[in-house]
Amino acid sequence: MSSSQSTAVTKPRLIILTTGGTIASVNGQPMIDGPALVQAVPDIAEHATITVETFSKIGSSQMTPAHWLRLAQRINQLLQDDPGLSGVVITHGTDTMEETAYFLNLAIRSKKPIVLVGSMRSANEISADGPANLLNAVRVAVDENSIGKGVLVVLNEEISAAREVWKTHNRRVETFQSAAGFLGVVDPDQIRYYRNPIHPHTYQVPFELDKVTALPKVELVMDFTGFDPAILTYFAGKGLDGLVIGSFAGGRISSGMLEGMKRAAEKGIPLVIASQVPEGRIIGYPSYPFPVVFAPDLSPKKARILLLLALMKTQDTKELQTFFERY
Ligand code: ASP
Repeated sequence: MSSSQSTAVTKPRLIILTTGGTIASVNGQPMIDGPALVQAVPDIAEHATITVETFSKIGSSQMTPAHWLRLAQRINQLLQDDPGLSGVVITHGTDTMEETAYFLNLAIRSKKPIVLVGSMRSANEISADGPANLLNAVRVAVDENSIGKGVLVVLNEEISAAREVWKTHNRRVETFQSAAGFLGVVDPDQIRYYRNPIHPHTYQVPFELDKVTALPKVELVMDFTGFDPAILTYFAGKGLDGLVIGSFAGGRISSGMLEGMKRAAEKGIPLVIASQVPEGRIIGYPSYPFPVVFAPDLSPKKARILLLLALMKTQDTKELQTFFERY
């Protein structure tokens, strides 16, 4: 090829779905819509050709399982309709980002990078972190080493796996941490990975949501000293499909919770115990006088997400336990 002929390098193509959150907010002003959010970071265009879609404009504390379902179905449809897409970036509030990330980690049927990004400071604050986080999320989404790693969370130049990441601080930009550590980092010159997730995710999971119109109803109740069993009597009467209990360390529960769970078990409600303690595994499941599933090392919020998906496969306690050992 003559030197005068230049090969036009086609940039990877991404979809950016915006949902709201602090990354899209200017203190006291309504949420910035998708196109404006992306236009505020012109460097993105050096890395990818972007299509923007405003999915919602809500604080992530307003997210619901219905939003998760619609978001997963939209992403699966986009990836199926356009095989040339390199990946998807989702801008999202940080309050429930870890939950949406884990739901998508179990619902997206693709190896392509799905990257959630948010910010701890709004756009008008000094040293707002949103623009850099969004640019870094795009860089991660187009990096070939991000393929097959499941759903990722990118903030503060750190790349986290959806299954273990959680929000640890009300204010600091380094709020997202994982007991298992980061998957990698975003350096100025390259995306650097140090490990892969080992729990099955995305293309490796059996949950088919395309035709689902509503998810099972699963609630979460935290145990505490002096727990009143009447709280679970209330829930047991609400037609739940499943109930997750945030236990003390080791899967231990109060006597009030024990009584409450007995009543829920009598109604045939599948019960899952996950520890409120953020790190470590429940070792040696305690025995209780009713069928109960244990989440060895999932947070109560993520145990709820796995349960509402697993219930679409089985209500059997023993079979549910295999899901919690695997995902
Ligand atoms: N402060 C949250 C955020 O960082 C608000 C939200 O989650 O929507 O995005």
